[in-house]
Amino acid sequence: MKNKISIAIDGPVGSGKGTLAVALSKRLNAFYVYTGAMYRELTLACLRTKIDINNEGEVLKVFENISIELKNTDYGVRAFLDGQEVSDEIFQPLISKTVPIVAAFPRIRKEMVLRQQEMAKDALGKGKSVVMEGRDITTDVLHDADIKIYLTADIKIRAQRRLKQLIEKGIKTTYDEVLEDLEERDRQDTQRTASPLRVVKEAVVIDTTYDTIDQTVNKVIAKLKEKNLI
Ligand code: C5P
Repeated sequence: MKNKISIAIDGPVGSGKGTLAVALSKRLNAFYVYTGAMYRELTLACLRTKIDINNEGEVLKVFENISIELKNTDYGVRAFLDGQEVSDEIFQPLISKTVPIVAAFPRIRKEMVLRQQEMAKDALGKGKSVVMEGRDITTDVLHDADIKIYLTADIKIRAQRRLKQLIEKGIKTTYDEVLEDLEERDRQDTQRTASPLRVVKEAVVIDTTYDTIDQTVNKVIAKLKEKNLI
């Protein structure tokens, strides 16, 4: 049994990464990092400054001049951009649609990965376990994670889950819009040249289509026990 562990989770939109990561971080009293929020915040900053979003150099300049902060609270992750809370704003459909453009730039990814590795190192150094989720955590960010998990689910179920989450955040959208966004983001996230979303051979793959949250969490807990990590 280890006293602090690192858990890397990847998967497409709506596969249940966030829900699983929150449940695990509560159970293990771990530091949770929602990396998608970081890409979303950068995208919001770019849209606000009205730069050319297709120009990597301009996006990088914005990135170098903003502060991105994530806080774990009892009510979920709160995201701050230059000290101002943007937790709901980053889920606006325009951000979701634009974020894969920003996330495809190699220099942006390189910088994000460094920051995320730093966050994990910092938490582990303070004796805290880490649960990090995104699209490149198992492949790039946490190479040495104690466990790597890849979540997947049927796209219609993923769209329903995402729609529910967005409605809860007060975002006006429809099932068809969400489904279209998912299909497009899946395509962009898996087909980009820089760190595309993929399954690494050592990953534990879990299909959450027919699972309740508890069932998925229990599957992961069983794996952690099997590996003698908890
Ligand atoms: O996780 P979420 O769906 O909020 O992420 C938004 C977008 O950010 C993804 O569609 C993807 O383009 C990008 N992303 C990424 N790498 C990560 C996390 C998110 O490319 N580690």
